[in-house]
Amino acid sequence: MLIGVDDTDSPQGMCTTYLGAVLARQLIREHMQVREARLVRLNPNVTFKTRGNAAVMLDVEGDPDRAFTITCALVEELADFSCENTNPGVVVAEKQVDPAFYRQAVTDFCEIDAAVALLDTAGARYKGWKNRRGLIGATAAVASSLPDRTSEILVYREPARFGTPRDVDRTSLFAAEAATFPHTWDTVDVANDVVVCVPHTPDPVLFGIRGESPRWVLAARQMVQSEKPGIEQIWVTNQGTDAHLLDATIRELQDGLSYRVRGTVAESSKTGTGGHVSFTIHDGDHAVWCMAYEPTKNFRQLVRKLVPGDEVIACGSFKKGSINLEKLMIVSLAKDQTTRPPVCTACSKRMTSDGKRKGWKCKKCGARADAPDIEESPRMLEPGWYEVPPTARRHLAKPLCRGLPPY
Ligand code: ATP
Repeated sequence: MLIGVDDTDSPQGMCTTYLGAVLARQLIREHMQVREARLVRLNPNVTFKTRGNAAVMLDVEGDPDRAFTITCALVEELADFSCENTNPGVVVAEKQVDPAFYRQAVTDFCEIDAAVALLDTAGARYKGWKNRRGLIGATAAVASSLPDRTSEILVYREPARFGTPRDVDRTSLFAAEAATFPHTWDTVDVANDVVVCVPHTPDPVLFGIRGESPRWVLAARQMVQSEKPGIEQIWVTNQGTDAHLLDATIRELQDGLSYRVRGTVAESSKTGTGGHVSFTIHDGDHAVWCMAYEPTKNFRQLVRKLVPGDEVIACGSFKKGSINLEKLMIVSLAKDQTTRPPVCTACSKRMTSDGKRKGWKCKKCGARADAPDIEESPRMLEPGWYEVPPTARRHLAKPLCRGLPPY
């Protein structure tokens, strides 16, 4: 059977993955076999998410009625029902649930009624609490099929320490990254000298290491020194796979969905208040803003070097009229040319414009010229893929160290 759970946490605490890890141990104690523990990230633009829009699925061999009872009891024990936005959902499915629902949940928006209809068709056991929204994530988790998958080991805290400052040795995290990158990623951000894998929220997670396989994340985890940890769980995930990205043209973009979209830079970037950098791309009739927000740090330096005519592929979520960049491919570079009034050959002085399309004239001797001086600046930029740093990376975004996206 597949057991799906979602929406058990609140900004004040808990984490659905922790509940999943505790559940796995309870089921094993009941002599059930847990074949896989899966963590799926869903549409990152869903507004009622607590943090990373995660849902979990356990693939279990055992008695479905007993498993359903245990899972519901654990949700009632651990979920933070006091939070208005916590609306848990539990699903136990013995038959395959249509994977199209998972694909919709990761790339688009879903309705609770659609999840319930699917569960009824599949004859699944399910329970939703309060407004039952968690049934969307729980259904998506059991419906998930992952053509590309990565691993994450989540090390949780001892319950007595929940909400207190975390103690994870910084040096050991940098050493773990150095020893295992690119097979693990986003443990730390070397360029920005920041630890990425230790959360700052009051949830049960001590730290998490992401990587290609259970072996690699375990190898990195074994190098990390910290406070005495509680339970640990290796999850199969869709993180770092770009599962949320759709290919589209600018005209087709819809708010709240995430895309890979091709275009030509229309005008050079502008830096706005707060250090956010923006530029526009077009593909003939349609144009869209692209944003590199301040947290994307050094990625903004790259964006600032783009000039009109550069051909790019922008990857990221389309929100309120702009694409929030996660990655950018520079397909081809235009010439960076500036025009200036020509220099008078007789007087060696710059001429002045004689009016629109009327050429230039030397103020001193009256000589005329039809063409301006064209100055070409060298491009300090290479075609290729560029990405935001680990501190700004979204859970679903595929890091370039995993391979280059299609284009
Ligand atoms: P948790 O650790 O509790 O899972 P979270 O940050 O992952 O925290 P949730 O608290 O689960 O976020 O809130 C997300 C809510 O949005 C859930 O109720 C989930 O069912 C729902 N949801 C997820 N994806 C979609 C989607 N594509 N369309 C509509 N609702 C969605």
